[in-house]
Amino acid sequence: LSRTFRDNHRTVKLVLLCTAVSGGGIVAYGELAPSEAVVTDRKKVVVLGTGWAATSFMKNLDSPKYEVQVISPRNYFAFTPLLPSVTCGTVEARSIVEPVRNIFRKKKVDVQFSEAECFKIDAENRKVYCRSNANNSLNGKEEFVVDYDYLIIGVGANVNTFNTPGVVENCHFLKEVEDAQKIRRTVIDCFERANLPEVSEEEKKRILHFAIVGGGPTGVEFAASLHDFVNEDLVRLYPGIKDLVKITVLEAGDHILSMFDKRITAFAEDKFHRTGIDVKTGSMVVKVSEKEISTKELKNGGNITTIPYGMAVWSTGIGTRPFIKDFMSQIGQASRRALATDEWLRVEGCNNVYALGDCATINQRKVMKDIAAIFKKADKHNSGTLMVKEFQDVMKDICVRYPQVELYLKSKQMRNIADLLKEARGDVKKETVELNIDELKTALSKVDSQMKFLPATAQVASQQGIYLAKCFNRMEECEKNPEGPLRFRGEGRHRFNPFRYKHLGQFAPLGGEQTAAQLPGDWVSIGHSSQWLWYSVYASKQVSWRTRALVVTDWTRRFIFGRDSSRI
Ligand code: FAD
Repeated sequence: LSRTFRDNHRTVKLVLLCTAVSGGGIVAYGELAPSEAVVTDRKKVVVLGTGWAATSFMKNLDSPKYEVQVISPRNYFAFTPLLPSVTCGTVEARSIVEPVRNIFRKKKVDVQFSEAECFKIDAENRKVYCRSNANNSLNGKEEFVVDYDYLIIGVGANVNTFNTPGVVENCHFLKEVEDAQKIRRTVIDCFERANLPEVSEEEKKRILHFAIVGGGPTGVEFAASLHDFVNEDLVRLYPGIKDLVKITVLEAGDHILSMFDKRITAFAEDKFHRTGIDVKTGSMVVKVSEKEISTKELKNGGNITTIPYGMAVWSTGIGTRPFIKDFMSQIGQASRRALATDEWLRVEGCNNVYALGDCATINQRKVMKDIAAIFKKADKHNSGTLMVKEFQDVMKDICVRYPQVELYLKSKQMRNIADLLKEARGDVKKETVELNIDELKTALSKVDSQMKFLPATAQVASQQGIYLAKCFNRMEECEKNPEGPLRFRGEGRHRFNPFRYKHLGQFAPLGGEQTAAQLPGDWVSIGHSSQWLWYSVYASKQVSWRTRALVVTDWTRRFIFGRDSSRI
């Protein structure tokens, strides 16, 4: 019998030797003398999650100085950007998942994996409380406690329903592999049901109305994939009902894909209009019942309209997982949207806990305070004003340090905060302005309240995982030699450079073998060539050669034979 006891960050393995067993119980045992006990000073790292953030952390952690326990209800990594392709059978579900044990097996780090979900974090006593998946356990859900020296939280996020009545009961989500499989089956179900002889024309129309709530990248990509599936494959198989199919995107804002460049937004809206996908902007969904969606028409004096539908997919953004909410209240972050960290990804308000990916956000208020301090410093004569040239230099510096400010400005199609300031003052026409620091602060507070946190994307999550793994790999060396790079804010020095997000661009597949790509340097490309770029990037980003081969095979199969419409 071997058991592991933990004491003061040391792992002591005591080997209990059963010398005799009688009547089912141990009657005598021996213990190794202290000199013989195996003592290691490896720190215990507990990683929650097996998504983008946690997996990229694990893939890049290579210091054998840690004993790692990964806990997640999912024993696989899923390549989420291809989930919309799974909904229509362009790619099979198994082609985009890789068992995490395959990934960990190749590591020289000691890794244990438990298929379970964490339901409570006790940061004071450095413990996480977990329960096994019900189908994994003999006696229902078994609970266990794990202690840690370092905790890495990468548990992603929930779907955000904004508490809209009826959404959970009646809508599909597109977050997990199971969701994509369920959507695929439901689409086929709708076609089979609408094809039954007894169904009235009106009912057929309702059943074949596919409503997508949310005009962000996921909703738009799903609408485009569904349109391709229907027009390239299903119309040939269901000729009698093909003209009754309708796809509608409901978006509360003024445009779909609002986080993309204006040219992409305009192209997408125009393309959807041409191909017959109905885009209803200014439509806020307020209630979903079994057969109808109620929307508030924001452009139409707030009128309530009801739309009959057959299948609805809800894709309006992300929310916080309940156990993370509890943890946030425990550490004084109850009012926040996601776990606030500093730029080293350490959760504010507790020690040795790191958060990355969709469940975390870098504390913007602090960033804004720093930016205000940078402006003040630039105002050498203490005159309260900066000339435009000085201001632009400061802005360049800020954008290098805080790429999220740059992202925000780009998302608003602004060149810099001067534009924001002009907008705030209403003097948009003036070419040059003398910038008043107080006015700037007011403008910045506007940025603070509006600025998107780092986008919740796989790109951010994976870069954070790589960054944190590199810090952990160098942790021991840095502890011996703590004089690290200069901290740029506040006093003192810090062991590691802060996390810097490098935006590599983003894609928006629009169907019909056309994709919009927004690449660094404001370079926009739309069309078939970008679709090939999309294929190459997504093939290269696969987590293993096995999934890469499977995905490429699926794409080839689809080109040759079309998509499979069996309902299995
Ligand atoms: P996730 O990848 O969601 O992983 C969370 C992990 O935590 C999972 O393993 C989960 O099982 C585990 N977990 C959950 N609860 C618990 C618990 N209680 N205890 C322990 N573990 C838990 N981003 C892009 O950059 N480009 C794209 O093209 C793109 N397309 C997308 C398409 C779709 C349909 C979706 C849904 C997302 C897309 N994203 C894309 C966003 C991207 O998937 C997320 O930003 C990314 O997955 C975030 O990574 P994460 O590690 O934080 O969370």
